[in-house]
Amino acid sequence: MIDGYYAIDYQVHSFRSHDGLASIQDQCRRAVEIGLDEIGFSEHKDFDPADPMADYFDYDAYMTEIEAARREFAGALKVRAGVEVDYQRWFEDRIANYLDSHPFDFVIGSVHYVDRKMIMTEEYNAGRSAERAYRDYFKATADSVSSGLIDILGHLEYANRRGISAHGAYSPQPYREELENLFRLMVERGVPLEINTAGLHHVGLTYPVADTVEIYVEQGGRLLSIGSDGHEPAKLGYQYTTAAEIALAKGLTHLCTWESRQRSEVPIASNLE
Ligand SMILES: [Zn+2]
Repeated sequence: MIDGYYAIDYQVHSFRSHDGLASIQDQCRRAVEIGLDEIGFSEHKDFDPADPMADYFDYDAYMTEIEAARREFAGALKVRAGVEVDYQRWFEDRIANYLDSHPFDFVIGSVHYVDRKMIMTEEYNAGRSAERAYRDYFKATADSVSSGLIDILGHLEYANRRGISAHGAYSPQPYREELENLFRLMVERGVPLEINTAGLHHVGLTYPVADTVEIYVEQGGRLLSIGSDGHEPAKLGYQYTTAAEIALAKGLTHLCTWESRQRSEVPIASNLE
């Protein structure tokens, strides 16, 4: 528990991701220290053959380390083996094939590229108005949910990482229609929204912003995940309480947890049981 909240972090990276800065064991040790109840590793898996990191992720080595961590931290921490797939529509088949033969506890689908351009770059934003930049991004996230391949939508509004410096302050209001469509799809398919706290150290806002969480709830959304996107122990569970409070303030009361891609729900605060 952290500050009385059931504490999960379902967006965590280790050396098993090309940009990870800690071992699975070190991340688990830190998780116990800060009071996480569950840690969900979500290593990057990329599918663009032109990407030099496409083959970085080693499933067998990952599962061996996960098993070792489960033994070492048994009784103190639930350790979930997830993956964060980079979603791009043109390689949907590759994602599907990969997931067919590699079992995980959960699959996060994240949009990092739109039209083959990384959304957190100047290159992506320079060629687009604010409207185009966000609308094209939301369209890609809706495709990721429609694909039926993912369990959790990762860091919605990640476009803000560079979008705010390129286009100015962000509000979801101009994109209400896109967001409502996206959320209706998520509700239909039972895909939870993730509140990702990495945005708080990138741009001072969660991914997505609190106003967007409100639109999600208005559209019937109630499934929630929380993640720090921590690539190192110091960022694990980052500002967990902020995420839990945003969720509760907007009417979300439960967290999703995953095992072998089966979803369960736990109340965020024990007085909600
Ligand atoms: Zn990501």
